[in-house]
Amino acid sequence: MIKINEHFLALQNNYLFSEIAKRVKNYKLEHPGKKLISLGIGDVSLPLPEAVCKAMHTAVDEMSSKETFRGYGPEQGYDFLKECIIEHDFAARGIKLDLSEVFISDGAKSDTGNITDILGKDLLVAVGDPVYPVYVDSNIMAGRKESIVYLPCTAENRFVPELPELNSELTDNNSERSPDLIYLCYPNNPTGTTLSREELKLWVDYARRNQSLILFDAAYEAFIQHEDIPHSIYEIPGAKEVAIEFRSYSKTAGFTGLRCGYTIVPNQLIVKSPEFGSIKLNSIWNRRQSTKFNGVSYISQRAAEAVYSPEGKQQVRDNIAYYMENARILRQGLLACGLEVYGGLDAPYLWVKTPDKLPSWDFFELLLQKAALVSTPGVGFGACGEGYIRFSAFGGRESCQEALGRIRQIL
Ligand code: PLP
Repeated sequence: MIKINEHFLALQNNYLFSEIAKRVKNYKLEHPGKKLISLGIGDVSLPLPEAVCKAMHTAVDEMSSKETFRGYGPEQGYDFLKECIIEHDFAARGIKLDLSEVFISDGAKSDTGNITDILGKDLLVAVGDPVYPVYVDSNIMAGRKESIVYLPCTAENRFVPELPELNSELTDNNSERSPDLIYLCYPNNPTGTTLSREELKLWVDYARRNQSLILFDAAYEAFIQHEDIPHSIYEIPGAKEVAIEFRSYSKTAGFTGLRCGYTIVPNQLIVKSPEFGSIKLNSIWNRRQSTKFNGVSYISQRAAEAVYSPEGKQQVRDNIAYYMENARILRQGLLACGLEVYGGLDAPYLWVKTPDKLPSWDFFELLLQKAALVSTPGVGFGACGEGYIRFSAFGGRESCQEALGRIRQIL
């Protein structure tokens, strides 16, 4: 008899963004003709850079000719793109990588979700709270619902989780165990905050002491403005022995509809198995991807390669500067309204405390009903997000300015 993976039934029913979509749909039905502004979901609004489109046109032409046509590609990605990644994203920061350590993917969501495929079931998993929901849901799907610990990220700790050994709730409930798997996302979605080099080093050292694995989601590294903030976890000595890093072209270069990203699985990452001895995680991920992943289309990989051309780099920089100027305008405007605002300095998200201690969904409704403005309720990212909302800086400039005007009016 067929059975389902019942862990899927343990997932929460209302995925945050579908609940927002439902409320927005109702609002539109009740207020036809009203101009809604969305600072909610984190999708980009600028089109793809010109250099990227040009590269895709060339790749399409190659695909249409018998001499240059490409069929199945390597599941791990083409060397031409991996070489660019190694040179521009890592060697430029003093990090050496081998081609075999780079896995091209269709984005960071897939890889941060799929990576748990290659890890044992019996793991204690630590995530920040608030958190990008994919980390939690993919572990629930894998049967680890009861093994997830939430590390509070609050204004008091500047949204930097305490090391598990300092976290009294964790030491009380799981006194024998330190987390085996630790998700870190910096610059952070949703709080828009970052980790300093010293703070990141504490985590790397912790993972080395406790033989934990860090999954470092750097999907927003391109938005870092301050020089002293690390872009890659491998800037920290010893990190290659304890960390996998995820990157994405989605927000960096507007690839949300095109799809491309990559994951670094260093060859030094060794997991000890009582039965099989020392195992390279790189080999297991390679095996997983070769079997279950089709690779990214040749055209998308040529598009990603163009991100590293001189023109591509400039166009990507311009787009990021546009979004970060939005973030600056929003931050200043919200502060001027007397709101408590975090993030938005090295990330395209602003994490805003609701006025008068309103619950997140109440403030969301107030903004929707009184200002026709869509935000994201912080509580949707975890219990510690209660009392906050997230604004995204990925909209158009005029929308940001108009949104501020409307907020000023209702507060
Ligand atoms: N990781 C974080 C923290 C994100 O916020 C997002 C997208 O919003 C992703 C990963 C997904 O990236 P991709 O579009 O590459 O799948």
